[in-house]
Amino acid sequence: MASRDSASAGGPDQAAPGSPGAGPGLMPVAGIASNDTLGPGGLTQAQARRPRPPRHLADLDPAGRRAAVTGLGEPAFRAGQLSRHYFARLTRDPAEMTDLPARSRERLSATLLPGLLSAERELSCDAGTTRKTLWRAFDGAYLESVLMRYPDRVTVCVSSQAGCGMACPFCATGQAGLTRNLSAAEIVEQIVAAGRALAAGRVPGGPGRVSNVVFMGMGEPLANYRGVISALRRITDPLPDGLGISRRSVTVSTVGLVPAIRRLAAEELAVTLAVSLHAPDDDLRDELVPVNTRWKVAAVLDAAWSYAAATRRRVSIEYALIRDVNDQMWRADMLGTLLSGQLTHVNLIPLNPTPGSRWTAPEPEVAARFAGRLAAHGLPVTVRDTRGREIDGACGQLAASSQVPIR
Ligand code: SAH
Repeated sequence: MASRDSASAGGPDQAAPGSPGAGPGLMPVAGIASNDTLGPGGLTQAQARRPRPPRHLADLDPAGRRAAVTGLGEPAFRAGQLSRHYFARLTRDPAEMTDLPARSRERLSATLLPGLLSAERELSCDAGTTRKTLWRAFDGAYLESVLMRYPDRVTVCVSSQAGCGMACPFCATGQAGLTRNLSAAEIVEQIVAAGRALAAGRVPGGPGRVSNVVFMGMGEPLANYRGVISALRRITDPLPDGLGISRRSVTVSTVGLVPAIRRLAAEELAVTLAVSLHAPDDDLRDELVPVNTRWKVAAVLDAAWSYAAATRRRVSIEYALIRDVNDQMWRADMLGTLLSGQLTHVNLIPLNPTPGSRWTAPEPEVAARFAGRLAAHGLPVTVRDTRGREIDGACGQLAASSQVPIR
């Protein structure tokens, strides 16, 4: 059974129409619509002109891989062998593929395991256990991923798009606009690269494996719906068809694209959903998360609770605490009232100020009081450990400081 993945094997869905960085508002919404309605023949000229990332094994489901392999004149079972090399052994080096005939190795790896990302810069802190990589894609687009090793887990924070069209004013990525969607394989490759570093013992703490993935790097994952769904299948499919990471350990974070949240619930992927709320009231949220002008707080939360009901998973509510903007105790109470009784968990993130920003984080005591207020409403709440501040850990900051996004 070939799934929809195979249909998009030639590359990712194209990004939202309009010139990249055309600004906030409804552009990303149009992007969602184009995912649904435009086939390859329905692309705008600007979209059609943008070259697509090379096709990669990780863009394809197992049936698509078998078709690709037989299309090269190889027996179908080579697809499984190749999958094991990539997803289980984390290699694309033909020399290591000793179970394949020498003739086939080079050709299969060149055709189905092309190099997709090259590391442009690498920064680390927390004694080497937080590592951020700035990647350059085949077309010069930049994206970032972050590996964070904790005593009990290793989390990789991945990008789903180069840039972002959502224009949240406190987020570095939001300032630069959208360059393009990443392909499923470009997303997966960020995790595979982290896995290689861990397996090779390049991260302090001894050899290890990636246990968690969060879609909290650059981009709005649900605006790259097909690319992200395909990547989620690769990430959660058992070894050797995929990376075998547990669904509950994968978190998709969204600004709140309501139709896409509902669609995600129906995929039965049961990954963890995080909603970037940042304000309990529409007046403020319209400003902090511009897509709120299209889908209001009530509609976003309604979709979130449907997701929780469908998956029986606690939905994370993300709230970046910004001094004198959204950190008032009355807003904590308003948020507490909105969320109480639901299957949720609140994650407070003290703002990581972006260069030149007029906004900053509240004092730690204020964050603690805000958290206490929510807890008084019976809500589980954490104040996020803000790793990687000194390496521009916040979303998009490394790419922003490198003056990059290509147009
Ligand atoms: N577009 C998605 C995922 C990427 S951002 C989303 O918005 O959810 C991941 C999280 O980091 C979001 O909650 C986002 O609002 C938050 N974030 C972005 N910039 C930040 C900053 N400067 N300080 C604190 N949190 C930030």
